[in-house]
Amino acid sequence: CLTGFSLAACQGGDKNYTNPDLPATERVSSLMSQMTLEEKVAQMCQYVGLEHMKTAEKNMSAEDLKHSHAQGFYPNLHSSDVEEMTKKGMIGSFLHVVKAEEANYLQSLAQQSRLKIPLLIGIDAIHGNGLYCGSTIYPTPIGQASTFDPALIERMSRETAVEMRASGMHWTFTPNVEVARDTRWGRVGETFGEDPYLVGQMGAATVRGFQTKDFTGNDKVIACAKHLVGGSQPANGINGAPAELSERTLQEVFFPPFKDCLDAGVFTVMTAHNELNGIPCHGNKYLMTEVLRNQWKFDGFVVSDWMDIERMHDYHNVAETLKDAYRISVDAGMGMHMHGPEFYEAIIECVKEGTISEKQIDAAVSKILEVKFKLGLFENPFVDLKKKDEIVFNEKHQQTALEGARKSIVLLKNEGNVLPLEASKYKKVFVTGHNADNQSILGDWAMEQPEEHVTTVLEGLKAISPETNYNFLDLGWNVRLLSDNQIKEAVQQARNSDLAILVVGENSMRYHWNEKTCGENSDRYELSLPGRQQELVEAVAATGVPTVIILVNGRPLTTEWIAENMPCIIEAWEPGVAGGQALAEILYGQVNPSGKLPITIPRSTGQIQCMYNHKFTNHWFPYATGNSLPLYEFGYGLSYTTYKYDHLKLSEASITPDKSVKVTVDVTNTGKMDGEETVQLYIRDEYSSATRPVKELKDFARIPLKAGETKEVSFTLTPEMLSYYDADMHYGVEKGTFKIMVGASSRDTDLQSVILTVK
Ligand code: BGC
Repeated sequence: CLTGFSLAACQGGDKNYTNPDLPATERVSSLMSQMTLEEKVAQMCQYVGLEHMKTAEKNMSAEDLKHSHAQGFYPNLHSSDVEEMTKKGMIGSFLHVVKAEEANYLQSLAQQSRLKIPLLIGIDAIHGNGLYCGSTIYPTPIGQASTFDPALIERMSRETAVEMRASGMHWTFTPNVEVARDTRWGRVGETFGEDPYLVGQMGAATVRGFQTKDFTGNDKVIACAKHLVGGSQPANGINGAPAELSERTLQEVFFPPFKDCLDAGVFTVMTAHNELNGIPCHGNKYLMTEVLRNQWKFDGFVVSDWMDIERMHDYHNVAETLKDAYRISVDAGMGMHMHGPEFYEAIIECVKEGTISEKQIDAAVSKILEVKFKLGLFENPFVDLKKKDEIVFNEKHQQTALEGARKSIVLLKNEGNVLPLEASKYKKVFVTGHNADNQSILGDWAMEQPEEHVTTVLEGLKAISPETNYNFLDLGWNVRLLSDNQIKEAVQQARNSDLAILVVGENSMRYHWNEKTCGENSDRYELSLPGRQQELVEAVAATGVPTVIILVNGRPLTTEWIAENMPCIIEAWEPGVAGGQALAEILYGQVNPSGKLPITIPRSTGQIQCMYNHKFTNHWFPYATGNSLPLYEFGYGLSYTTYKYDHLKLSEASITPDKSVKVTVDVTNTGKMDGEETVQLYIRDEYSSATRPVKELKDFARIPLKAGETKEVSFTLTPEMLSYYDADMHYGVEKGTFKIMVGASSRDTDLQSVILTVK
């Protein structure tokens, strides 16, 4: 009885759950019929990995310990306790197990428990398995969205899944499908931007990549749509601050991407830190039960976010005790608790007292077990460490990371005949900026990676143009720190060069948690370049040396001065391990830039909310001082070639509300270089019973075009795309006229239009 998976046999229970040929649901019922209440509740308990706990134990200060609860660490809980609990079958899942060896070790502990139920191991693998050292790191989601290439995002996600499984991990806490409507919020880079349609498309592609249609198999990873909901429009831009969102805004903006992920089969959903209209999301029955289960027929399970159930007691104050908080949350539909020991006892007590029914527990546990069966964990919970090394960071994955970086980089401005660079013209090039030669190009949710895996911007330049003489001034990685001497030195070196390249921006490196200016828990109330970087840019510009600005950042920055005064500007976001190579290829014209902005860049923080799909009256009056228009519009991005849009037409000028219409346009590459263009389709409902945005993205197509080539691009505009919630909140198509716009960006001057009448 101590070996193999035949425990049911020796206990006299039915053996069906050990039979891999039976459907997962049958195996689940078989196993559950043999589980005690305690064993069931254990499946709902997730703990942070041992290494992670040990580091925290070592690093916690006395002050941290006072707030340890809020920080997620329990002074009386040690990694050794967690090991014992795993052996006893009191834990169903782990997160942030960052070594395959540890994953195997934990699984071996779980195999000592009565029912030998394998562990489900989760991690935030949001652009590659970044918290794992040695994995392939792709561009962060905001960069992924800039590619406007869902098939590529699906491929990245598939590759990440394969790397995760090889490393003993089965569950990713991605995609973050929050619609980013306040760029003060530090987590914008984890999102796919400001447009609900684009966010939904990218989120669904991520889910398809990780899970595939059916997540049965040993290379599948379950995905997690998060965070439900509204955290991306928090009061004052602060992570976790209240979200006040009307029913209409939820239905039109925040819910659709979640719905798209559900349609793609996403099996888990994570609730948001924040309250929604006065009710914390972690105790929100409307969200978890009414919307998710009843309306959307969600068939997976909900997981809590880090310490957020506890925060219902000690931050939101809607639960007098922790036990109340756990009860409210599970009763509202929570299926798994992320980290901490008190949940287990409290929920068992609640069931015994009758304040939570065992049926509610069974509903969650059956879904958790279904995952474990489908992923093949009962057959083999361990990973082969040798195989892992062949899979993780393999050549194919590196190529995809490079393709992602190339396609995600956005050329914002190109004047003065500087770009693409001619090596013969710019022989001495000065390179500086905090992000020029380090791993800040990896972005948030990534730990420090082996140096040889990452091509920094400077390394990329040297490799692409070895004949150029690069002078590099190292300013250190910390964007907050820049001295008078460093600025002086930069000016000196720029003067002695033919060209300057300044790699400026923000810093979201997790391993510099307290110094980062962007990423989780790094919100800001003004969005200019942090520290003295602006001074650096102005000082170098004043030398008169042609200067290229490369922005490496996780969220839009208000760089109005730069936009108006510098000739060449590139938005690189956080492009991942191959970012330096891709940037150098673009600078030297080996790759034609093709990324487009998935989010509007404002001129000033005071313009927030600043998004393309605003209402007409958002711009009723201009601001009394300053320019009211954004700095760069959604969908905008230049290329080294030019594109012309012609002959926009509809298959029919007038349709009935139940009919679709075909929209076609000719796009020609009128320049001298091959390129890829993202053709965008927007609509505007001209008169409607409830107000509509001035533009709404409805479809897009990324198409390769050789120099001189013309292609006809067509879209089908369906009744679904013309539908909206009318004044009575009925969803459907209203009769009237619609302006149909197609072009290179959401900017009016980039769009052609025709009128469609719905009769
Ligand atoms: C974040 C989640 C994440 C979790 C686990 C939380 O702080 O809000 O998005 O999945 O940590 O890492």
